[in-house]
Amino acid sequence: MRGVSDVRESLDAAATPSLVVAIDGPSGSGKSSVSRAVAARLGLAYLDTGAMYRALTWWCIDQGIDLGDEAAVTAAAERLPLRMGTDPGDPRVFVGDTDVTAAIRETRISSVVSAVARHLPTRAVLIGIQRDLIARGSRPGIIAEGRDITTVVAPDADLRLLLTASEHARLMRRAREQHGDAGETALAATRDEVVRRDRDDSMTTSFLVPTDGVQLLDTSELDFESTVAVVVDAIEAVRRAASAL
Ligand code: C5P
Repeated sequence: MRGVSDVRESLDAAATPSLVVAIDGPSGSGKSSVSRAVAARLGLAYLDTGAMYRALTWWCIDQGIDLGDEAAVTAAAERLPLRMGTDPGDPRVFVGDTDVTAAIRETRISSVVSAVARHLPTRAVLIGIQRDLIARGSRPGIIAEGRDITTVVAPDADLRLLLTASEHARLMRRAREQHGDAGETALAATRDEVVRRDRDDSMTTSFLVPTDGVQLLDTSELDFESTVAVVVDAIEAVRRAASAL
């Protein structure tokens, strides 16, 4: 598995510029699962930037750091012993020697991650690492997804997409993922995770409306496979356009 440091070491090997695809979207838009599936299908690398904010949150809690203390959280980001790969087939995330892949998805992390992500100096540290990973990612290219990839992390990406879906569709998807059904109880339990978190996140990052040059893809009426197919087509179109130059 390639960790952050391994990617840094591969700088020279990856000197040829490769395709960069930036995908943003709110919680439940399907951006993570779709991005991972598309990357696997096209042989691209995959960067889940949300996992980095989640891993930092896990580490701060583990270290007893007050999530509201901007300086302490930023210092933690600077020394975060994060190891995560960009292989879409291997989504494991480690902090030091601890495999936190499952732990960072727990409600105790989801419910507070926005408090970490709101610190701008902390974001600057993670954004630096993300840009490094994107610039040094393997050929033929990389899909990076999150909240600010199309606008801040990789505004010059070859393709920039904003995946969205109605609030109802997003709630239904997350409820099924986390509770196995989309009944009233499951929907209510999911509301904080989706609606409140997106509201908090949108104070810091802009992922609800596309900025200039960003293509909007509304997945409310699309199933998973159809969404994957639309994104694959969009990437193939960019590749064709580039090879025609
Ligand atoms: O995408 P995911 O739900 O895993 O993201 C977890 C959290 O990380 C988001 O709720 C947001 O607070 C933060 N995040 C961010 N910028 C990104 C990716 C995620 O602020 N590029």
